[in-house]
Amino acid sequence: MPRIITLPGDGIGPEITTAALRLLHAVAPDCETEEHVVGGASIDAHGTALTDETLAVCRGADAVLLAAVGGPKWDTTDPDKPRPEQGLLGLRKGLGLFANLRPVRPVPALYDASPLKRDRIERTDLLVVRELTGGIYFGAKSRENGRAVDECAYDTHEIERIARVAFAAARSRVTSVDKANVLETSRLWRETVSRVHDEEFPAVLLEHLLVDNAAMQLVSAPRHFDVILTENMFGDILSDEAAMLTGSIGMLPSASLGEPDTPGLFEPVHGSAPDIAGEGVANPLAMFLSVAMMLRHGLGRDAVAAAVESAVDRALEAGLRTRDLGGEATTAEATDAVLAQLERT
Ligand code: NAD
Repeated sequence: MPRIITLPGDGIGPEITTAALRLLHAVAPDCETEEHVVGGASIDAHGTALTDETLAVCRGADAVLLAAVGGPKWDTTDPDKPRPEQGLLGLRKGLGLFANLRPVRPVPALYDASPLKRDRIERTDLLVVRELTGGIYFGAKSRENGRAVDECAYDTHEIERIARVAFAAARSRVTSVDKANVLETSRLWRETVSRVHDEEFPAVLLEHLLVDNAAMQLVSAPRHFDVILTENMFGDILSDEAAMLTGSIGMLPSASLGEPDTPGLFEPVHGSAPDIAGEGVANPLAMFLSVAMMLRHGLGRDAVAAAVESAVDRALEAGLRTRDLGGEATTAEATDAVLAQLERT
C-alpha cells in the first residue's frame, strides 16, 4: 500500500489539500495518507519550518504532496527568526531532490487566457527539467572590499544524473540549454549531456541552445520544444517564462525528484495566496495536476495520471472556471466537476 505524506502548509494550502485528498481517494483508494505540518504552521506549532520528525516521515514515504507555505504572519527580515520557505529548502536538501520538473501544457479551453497569441501557443506541450541542488545557488559566496563573489560549480556526476532524468522523460527531443560560449561550467555541461546521450539515449534527438536564444524561442516558437534540460539558475528563469504561456499560475504543477529510491515532492507552482485564504475559492487544479504527477513519477501509475489530466481538461472545456479564471466556481465545486468527469472516463 503506497504511503503518502501530505503537507498542507499555509494560506490556501489546507483547502486545496482537502480537495486533492478527495481526488486521490477516488482514483487511488489503496493509498494511505498521513498529514504533517510544514512552513508557517510548523513554526507556530514547533518553532521551526520543518521538524526532524517530519523530514524523517517524508524520507520513509513513497511520495510527498505539498500545497504551499508562507504568509504575512511569518514575514520577517530578522535573519534569526524562522521563515516558512526554510521548510521547502529543508525538504529539497533533506530528500536530495536534484531534479525539478515543470510541465507547461496550455489547456485548449484557456488558450485565450495567455498573454501570447493563440496560434503561437496552440499544441504547446513541453517539460522544463531544471537542476535543483547545484550551480551558482549553492556555490561559495563572499563579499569583501566592495567586491562580491558567487561561485558557480558543477561536477560531472551532477550533470549526468539530471541529463538521465531529461532523456528518460523525452518523447522525441531534448533541448539542452547552456551558455557554453562564455561559461566553463556550461562547456562541461554540454560535453557531459552529449556523452550521456550518445552512450545511453541515442534514439532521443539532442540539440544544444544558448540560454539567450532559448529565452527568445520559448515565446516565439514554444511548440518546438519537448524537454528543456538546464542548470539551476537558467532553469529558474526559463521555467517562469514558460509558465506564462499558460496564462494562469493556478494551473501549474511541479515535481522534484531525487535518486530512484527516495520519495519525490509534488506541489503546485503557486504560493499560499493569503489574499483569498479561508474563502473556499482557491483554484485546486494545479494541485490536482500535481497529484497526477505524483501518480506518474512517484507511484508509476501512468494511466491514472493521464485520466486525472484528461478530467481536468474536460471539466474546463465544459465551462469550469474558478475566480482566478474569471468564473465563480468554488474549490469544492471545482473538485465536484473534475470528479464528475472522472466518473465518465
Ligand atoms: P501566490 O502564488 O501565493 O499568489 C499570487 C496571486 O495568485 C494572488 O493573487 C493569489 O490569490 C493568486 N493565486 C495563487 N494561487 C492561486 C490558486 N490556486 N487559486 C486562485 N488564485 C491563486 O504568490 P505571492 O502572493 O507572491 O505569495 C504569497 C505567499 O506564498 C508568500 O508568503 C510567498 O512566500 C509564498 N509562496 C510560496 C510558494 C510555495 O509554497 N511553493 C511559492 C510562491 C510563493
